[in-house]
Amino acid sequence: MTRVYNFSAGPSVLPEAVLQQAQAELVEWHDAGMSIMEMSHRGKTFTAIAEQAEQDLRDLLAIPNNYKVLFLQGGAALQFSMIPINLFGKTAKADYLNTGIWSTKAINEARKYGQVNVVASSEAQKFTTVPARDTWQCDPNAAYFHYTPNETINGVEMHDVPDVGNVPLVADYSSTILSRPLDVSRFGLIYAGAQKNIGPAGLTVVIIREDLLDSHFPFTPTMLNYKIQADDKSMHNTPPTFGWYLAGLVFKWLKAQGGLEAMAVINQRKAQHLYQAIDNSGGFYKNAIDVRYRSWMNVPFTLPTEALEKSFLAEAEKAGLTTLAGHRTVGGLRASIYNAMPEAGVNALVEFMQVFQQKWN
Ligand SMILES: *Cc1c(COP(=O)(O)O)cnc(C)c1O
Repeated sequence: MTRVYNFSAGPSVLPEAVLQQAQAELVEWHDAGMSIMEMSHRGKTFTAIAEQAEQDLRDLLAIPNNYKVLFLQGGAALQFSMIPINLFGKTAKADYLNTGIWSTKAINEARKYGQVNVVASSEAQKFTTVPARDTWQCDPNAAYFHYTPNETINGVEMHDVPDVGNVPLVADYSSTILSRPLDVSRFGLIYAGAQKNIGPAGLTVVIIREDLLDSHFPFTPTMLNYKIQADDKSMHNTPPTFGWYLAGLVFKWLKAQGGLEAMAVINQRKAQHLYQAIDNSGGFYKNAIDVRYRSWMNVPFTLPTEALEKSFLAEAEKAGLTTLAGHRTVGGLRASIYNAMPEAGVNALVEFMQVFQQKWN
């Protein structure tokens, strides 16, 4: 078996130890006589797996007791609709900060259900930075304030939680959740599609403050209603059981690494190593993002020509460094270096970059 270093933005690399454990438990989970995929989600065995996964996530993020954790389907993109139809019931207006392609999608979806106030946008800067806090035109009566802490495609990350007063903060943490400690109590709602830093695609994690559960519209579909899902412990219908189980293994793995403090140290070191390689290349490799907002998780970069980028991708692939093409909408290259990307993978990429440059420069 030869596992490559997979720099995909999502679905992305999972910890090898987790895959090995899932493989060992695949055909028969412990002494259950069947696999996880074949058992009732309401049975004792799966209920225990589900509760343990939630507890481990609560431990990792120190989630306060007045928050519910939901294990849903539909991806982060469904949350772009679920958020307004669950939080707009009392005040159908919300503030959105636009820092990239994912923020823009969230904004466009929310506009279908109420009044969206874009407090500031970095679109004119091609989403290479975050608008300065003192330029945001916030509405103190907004139902919530939505932002995207890490713009996966653009490679822009807000390293501090913004202060928006008493308006509930809603954040799309899809590509940076669990990369470092987080003060959950600052938020009204945090959501993340699993396939970047949590587990396999098909699972979406929502962490919601309990007082926000009663602001849905009367027409909010049953399956898309946070209150109903919270009351039924995410089991109003059959949840994505295998994804939930695998996420649980990832949470255990994170605990074994030393938790999120330890992950933060490793993630920062990985990112610094890669950005330094880019910055020290004499302009051969370039990252266009405002250094204050460079993402720890997604590192886009360009080469002097598109032809060189093509050769880079082809040669990297041969060297076992895969999925380094940038998103189709922005081009260039992008290395996604989530929790499960080992430091050795980043080291291998940096070495490859140096050799490639010597050859072509
Ligand atoms: C990947 C991603 C999404 C979309 O996730 P899906 O689960 O495919 O819907 C949304 N927001 C961000 C920040 C992402 O990285």
